[in-house]
This record gives sequence, structure tokens and C-alpha cells, in this order.
Amino acid sequence: MQYILKGKSIVTMGSRGIIRNGCIVIEDSWIIDVGEYNDIRGKYHGYEVLNMEDCILMPGLINTHTHIAMSLLRGYADDLQLKEWLEKWVWPLEAKMNERDIYIGAKLSALEAIKSGTTTICSMYHHQYDYNEARAVYEAGLRGVISHTFFDWRRDEDYKFMEDLISKWHGKGRWKIKVAASPHAPYTVSPKYLMEIREYVNEKNRELRDEEKIIIHIHVAETRDEAKIVKEKYNVETEMGLFKYLDQIGFLSEDVLAAHCVWLTDEDIATMKARKVKVSHNPISNLKLASGISPIAKLLSVGVTVSLGTDGPCSNNTLDMFETLKMASIIQKGVTLNPTVLPAEETLKMATINGAKALKWDKHIGSIEVGKKADIIAVELGKPHLTPIYSELSHLVYAVRCGDVKHVIIDGEIVMENREIKTLREEEVIREAEKAKEELIRRLKER
Ligand SMILES: [Zn+2]
Repeated sequence: MQYILKGKSIVTMGSRGIIRNGCIVIEDSWIIDVGEYNDIRGKYHGYEVLNMEDCILMPGLINTHTHIAMSLLRGYADDLQLKEWLEKWVWPLEAKMNERDIYIGAKLSALEAIKSGTTTICSMYHHQYDYNEARAVYEAGLRGVISHTFFDWRRDEDYKFMEDLISKWHGKGRWKIKVAASPHAPYTVSPKYLMEIREYVNEKNRELRDEEKIIIHIHVAETRDEAKIVKEKYNVETEMGLFKYLDQIGFLSEDVLAAHCVWLTDEDIATMKARKVKVSHNPISNLKLASGISPIAKLLSVGVTVSLGTDGPCSNNTLDMFETLKMASIIQKGVTLNPTVLPAEETLKMATINGAKALKWDKHIGSIEVGKKADIIAVELGKPHLTPIYSELSHLVYAVRCGDVKHVIIDGEIVMENREIKTLREEEVIREAEKAKEELIRRLKER
């Protein structure tokens, strides 16, 4: 397939900045040229021109932390403390979920992600052998990093699930799917088990190229009492901070993607910088569960790579990355009493190129540049809330809503055109999800 996308402006998030009256030339799954339409059109004969002149074209958004199967629990339990929310509500209902439910929930999330402009999703969940998140993401035509979650209580089975995930899915679909290993958190995985997983991942990665490596995706420092809980449960030293603790046991490296990072000490921040730990900032989930606010303005100022995530659709309660972009920016302005922190461009980087770096994928995604994969979204202008237009960056962070995404291209394929999804039957996915919810509630009442 070879074609040219013609847009009103192209926000490349790369070295070319913003190109007005621009176009992107796509061949197979790759971007082979970018520039002003008038300069480029003569060079390519026989390429179909897709007119998207009512749109801003930009790299697809990258959601670096979520649990996509949990869309089935959207709105099931709100307004609770994290501990109570997990132990009394989420975990008992999840215990009733079968692999089919996980697949259906993941499909529903994939649908929502594409419709809201996300082209790459990084999800942490319980892997299952036949029906699982990886299958749903693959069928939806989405790009994804799918992990299996390790817990102390599942020690024997975890490696079997992980081996299955790697053998069936790592590199699937011309590397559209990659896998990650996810120790759940320092308070649910012992230091010994954390190091076992670290060594397991190192061993798996020994022969792989950097962009093919399995990353480690973990929750760290989400709540205020987490360091104290870890200290008491495992009899370890955490007073200097959880990252300091993880570094002391030898766990940290540049392949660690840590979600949340709300409660950090100064030693933690210095350690994260030194070890090149990547952060997934989840402002909406952190606010909704009253976990706190991650000091990302500080993390960014010292040079830590901070990306953005929604967290699961049960604690957000959507996968809307445009909402997350705006929140991420304005919260930091509010808590630092400084409107100059997190300007639009820096915020947008978190959801694009920084997300790519966090997933070890910046060689191929995260910006619109020659030699990268064609993961592109078209955001429709000409609406009251997007008029007039002085700055594309301003609109993309502060004014665009997820429903403004008109077309989505992933790996060179048009996955959504005029808001119609090509890869999944939208009504069927919604119907299946509603039915799965009814069944889940019925099984929960049976216990
Ligand atoms: Zn999470």
C-alpha cells in the first residue's frame, strides 16, 4: 500500500516541528517522506492522495500504563480508598473473570483507545493461554506492549504464563505486539522474587536488539504508606524511598517502566535519573483514588523520561489520553503555583515521543519522521471549541476532545476512517461487553 496523507498541519513531534499544508508519504507500514505538499507531490506518481485538509495530523498517542481487561469493571466501584477498592471490590469480581471476559474487556478497551486517538497501548494484566489481552489488541489492529503480572502468591504459575506470552506474542504482526514482564508492585512481590524476575528478563534479552527487548513494567510508590508496608512485610530498608530500595537490591535498570511514582524522596529522584528509569504518570487515576500528585515537573526538570498513562478503566474511568494530557499539564501548574511549567509542547511529548522511549520503541514510533512506522491520527478542526486556531499545540493539549479524532492509521493501515472502525464490529463488541458484565455479576452473587 502506498499513499499520501494531506493535512492542514502536521505536528511531527520530531525534528521538522510543525509543517503547514503538509503531507506524509506512506509506503507499506513506513513513513518515507514528510514535508510541504507543494514540494513533495511531484516526486510520487501513482500514490493515492487522501485528503485530510480539515485535520491536524500528529503521531498516534501512546498510553504507557493501563489494564485493558478492566473495562468490564468500569463504574463498578468508585469513591473508595485504594486498599478497600482493591480488596473488597475489584479483586473479588476479578476472581470471577474467565479468559473470555479478559478478552472481551480488552477488545472493548482497544475499541475505545482507537476511537480516542491512541495507537499504542501498554497494558498489565493476568495472561491467559487462549483468549487474552494480546489477542484482543492484535485483532483490533492496535500496537501494544502486553505483560503478564507476577505476584508472590502465583509464583509457580507465573513463569508458565510468561513463557506462553513470549512464545506466542513477542514480535507478532511485524513487531506490532511486544511483551513485558510485570512484577505487580514492591508490596506484592518479595525482593527475592523481584530479583528472580530481573534475572529472567536479562536472560531473555541477551540476544535481542534494543527495540526488541522485553521491558519490566511495574507499579511503584502509588500510595503514601507503600514504603512502610514494604518495610514491614519483607523486613527491608525503605526509609530512603522505594526506588532507593529497588536499586539496593539490584532491580533497577533503563528497561524499567514505573507507573505512578507519586511518593518519591529526593534520593528516589536521583536514583531514577541515574538508573534511567522511565515513568508512566497517571494523573487522573491518582486523583480519583486520592493517592496524591506525582512531582513530574521536578522529574522532567532533572531529565527523567516521563510518559503518560490512563491506568485501568476502573480507576479513571476512561482511556481518554486527550483528557489525561490536559490534566497532566494543569495539575502541575496548580500545585507548583507556576503556569510556565508543563507547557503544551512538553506535555504533548509525554504522550508521544516520551511514551515511545518508555517502551523502547522510539526508533519506530512517537514522532512523524522518515524511517518510522506510520502510526498517525487525524484530529478534525472546524468545530466551535477548536476555533479560531493560533497554535496547534495549544489546541491539542487544552481544547481537543477525544471525539475529535477522525481517522487513525496504525502501521500504515487505516484502522479508523471517519470515526468508523475497520478492524472490529463496534456494536458487537459493546453488546458482548454488556453481556459479559451481566454474567460476571451473576457469578459473583452465586458464591
Ligand atoms: Zn495500574
